[in-house]
Amino acid sequence: MSASNPGHPEGVGGGPLVEGPHDPEHDPRASYVLEPEYVATLTERVHATSGTTVSLISPLDGAPLANIPQSSTDDVAEAYRRARVAQAAWAKTPMEQRAAAMLRLHDLLIERMPELLDIITLENGKARKHAYDEVAHTALTARYYARMSEKFMATERRGGVLPVFTRIDINHVPKGVVGIISPWNYPLTMALSDGLPALMAGNAVVAKPDAQTMLTALMGVKLMDEAGFPRDLWQVVAGPGRQLGGPMIERSDYICFTGSTATGKLIAKQCAEQLIGCSLELGGKNPLLVLRDADVEKAAEGAIRASFSNAGQLCVSAERIFVADQVYDRFVERFVARAQAMTLGATLDWEVDMGPLISADQLETVTTQVGDAVDKGARVLTGGRARPDLAPYFYEPTILEGVTPEMTCFGNETFGPVVSLYRFNDESDAIARANDGEYGLNAAIYSQDGDRARAIARQIKCGTVNINEGFAATFGSLAAPMGGMRESGMGRRQGADGILRYTETQSVGTQRVLRMAPQFGLNAEQYAKLQVVGLKVLNKLGRA
Ligand code: NAD
Repeated sequence: MSASNPGHPEGVGGGPLVEGPHDPEHDPRASYVLEPEYVATLTERVHATSGTTVSLISPLDGAPLANIPQSSTDDVAEAYRRARVAQAAWAKTPMEQRAAAMLRLHDLLIERMPELLDIITLENGKARKHAYDEVAHTALTARYYARMSEKFMATERRGGVLPVFTRIDINHVPKGVVGIISPWNYPLTMALSDGLPALMAGNAVVAKPDAQTMLTALMGVKLMDEAGFPRDLWQVVAGPGRQLGGPMIERSDYICFTGSTATGKLIAKQCAEQLIGCSLELGGKNPLLVLRDADVEKAAEGAIRASFSNAGQLCVSAERIFVADQVYDRFVERFVARAQAMTLGATLDWEVDMGPLISADQLETVTTQVGDAVDKGARVLTGGRARPDLAPYFYEPTILEGVTPEMTCFGNETFGPVVSLYRFNDESDAIARANDGEYGLNAAIYSQDGDRARAIARQIKCGTVNINEGFAATFGSLAAPMGGMRESGMGRRQGADGILRYTETQSVGTQRVLRMAPQFGLNAEQYAKLQVVGLKVLNKLGRA
């Protein structure tokens, strides 16, 4: 594994970055500083009057990056009041106008990509190429819902109780104000992409991004302002989730939450108290299956991306790899070699394959889980150690063998660059082991027989299954609903499900000519008999 030296990020010179003091010859760690004026243009978008701030540090070097103003409960209330006023006007805005703003947002995301990539990497630590993934996903989401929302939201005609005489129209009406609570791991797309269909459906949004990645979320919101969305339509509040979550849920008409299963359960209970709906995008312990007929080279390459993208801090990343006996040794050799060839670095360069973890907490979880596995007999095939020489929270890509159920990392989500290998000789056994546990988010299958892999996919209890790809085939396809089964979540983002969750279904029945009561001099009994004859005729016609 090699370390990358800091180069010249695209933002320096034209963008918000000034290079901090560092000595590339003797210290491969980068040090970057953001211009205070630039930070101020972002933080002014937080609804906060409390006067308190929280310092945000960069995982690239552990140095302070910005101070983020914090919202009080009163600020949350005011954010909802403003959002409600804005929503009433927005719901009357024609769909073409909403779509035009969304397409402008798409273009701005592409145009301002270098600046976005700098901010994401600085704040989150992820490799620039993985920051690109999420800018692309956000832009694709904007374009998809700009183009498709009119179709998804269109009023549908359905058959009525009395054919011809009863007309039924199904409307999809906006819920009102949607609360979005998002995590730090994909700070742009998790903060923005779920909200874009909410806007297209005619809702307003109050967002609470994770405290560790506020700047990225705020930059996304600034681009929305530039794209022409009314400013009050998207409110941002900042602060600890356990303090702001309750006040948000009390005032929301719907909650979209992405984060851990433990927090998701708390959110679900509070939403139940308010009788409001919620979608919950939660954790996973995702399996990847390498079948005996897999192209081993492609499987090894795919497994690297599936396990170590964003340093494994990815809800859909593979943490358990089940490999058929026939190809096990070849796969392991290729997989380990590729992991060892990765370029590790804590800089803004494109060459970096994996960056640091985001925080001391994440490093602690990873170190503890690997230590526990090793103490109980697991073998480390590569990695297995922190790299403070690269960045304060760096941990090497780690491949384990011999992981058993008593080890913490067997069934618990690690959310780091750690993956366990398991051998199998019977595919039904591999499917059962992949389905073991409580999670059900994402799975991957490598095989050269697409039909066979798709048949196996139906037996896997996961909301998404990718064949000959780790996660991007489904996650990148905006028409494909994405979400978890079992403890990995409730509801789906993307596709029609991704927008209709933010609507109430309203049925409008129009009765014509015949009323729904006795008429033409018939009494109640005669009317009932006539209806029974009608039902029999309809039944026969239905059978014909
Ligand atoms: P987390 O649950 O600790 O925090 C997520 C968000 O919830 C943050 O904004 C946080 O401030 C807020 N929050 C925390 N406690 C809260 C409370 N009591 N009430 C309201 N809000 C609260 O999760 P995390 O550790 O930051 O994120 C990692 C987890 O997210 C992993 O389990 C990962 O798998 C999951 N995740 C899932 C998806 C998905 O699409 N399924 C995507 C990304 C991340």
